[in-house]
Amino acid sequence: MTQQTIEAFIREVYYQNFELLRQEGGGSISPEAREAGINQVLLYWLMLREIAERVTDTEVPINLPNQRSPEGRMFGIEGVVDIIREDDKTIMYDIKTHDPDYVRTHRELYEMQLNLYAYVWHQLRGQPLDMTAIIATAYDEKIRDVIPAGKLVDELTEDEMTRLKTVLDNWQPVIEIDFNEASVQETIRKFGEVVDKIENRQFAPPELEHLKAPWQTTNQLFATRVCRNCDARFSCTPYRAYAQERAPRNWRMAEFTQYFYDDPADETAQEGWVAANLNASPEDAYLDALLGE
Ligand code: SF4
Repeated sequence: MTQQTIEAFIREVYYQNFELLRQEGGGSISPEAREAGINQVLLYWLMLREIAERVTDTEVPINLPNQRSPEGRMFGIEGVVDIIREDDKTIMYDIKTHDPDYVRTHRELYEMQLNLYAYVWHQLRGQPLDMTAIIATAYDEKIRDVIPAGKLVDELTEDEMTRLKTVLDNWQPVIEIDFNEASVQETIRKFGEVVDKIENRQFAPPELEHLKAPWQTTNQLFATRVCRNCDARFSCTPYRAYAQERAPRNWRMAEFTQYFYDDPADETAQEGWVAANLNASPEDAYLDALLGE
């Protein structure tokens, strides 16, 4: 297959999947977010074609059933990984749409999950395993800046592609993760604690002060890094308080809503998002209009 044929196939499958999810979930995303998504997949193919072509077992389900939470509830853990088996070496990859630099500086968070999958694969299923790694597909601003707005990676001119390849040299999406099965029981216990909290209906958000503090070891606030990506922010009391506190004294709605959208300046994106969602569930939009909501 030629590069163009594969890229055309990727596009076709991406949009088919998107449409399926849109119809299943009844929600949508802005055209800009949709383009960023397909560019992330195309860049993955451009940069990691060698890995993608070597994958021997794709979307391998990893299941750890019949676990007990600290409060005695039964639960199971499920995940999906890709496996490469080559000569006498087996590598497990977990694909994340996260920022590679973030994964590198917070390895311990990813180690927990990947080590658990490795344990199921290696110890419980008796399969060989030599290495585990995360593939973090989010691309940074330097890459974003050289892709002209509204263009997909496979539509770039020769000059634009040359510029892109220059910045891609610094993009390292594959991050090897230490393989340590000793911490698995601790990870299972932490999953169990979350199960207990959910079953006990303990969903309280953190205090306002927590939102104003830096998130983990980054210099971004919890509110910026976590809350702005949280679907519950529209009805979250501490986040509303945070937004009110930060808005100018004589705030107008336009200024206030910036806290509830990723890019307040980009009205087109917001309109696109609204239109996409209206198209996704026309019956809801009709009912809202009838009820005057
Ligand atoms: S907006 Fe979401 S992440 Fe932020 S405090 Fe509220 S529930 Fe938690």
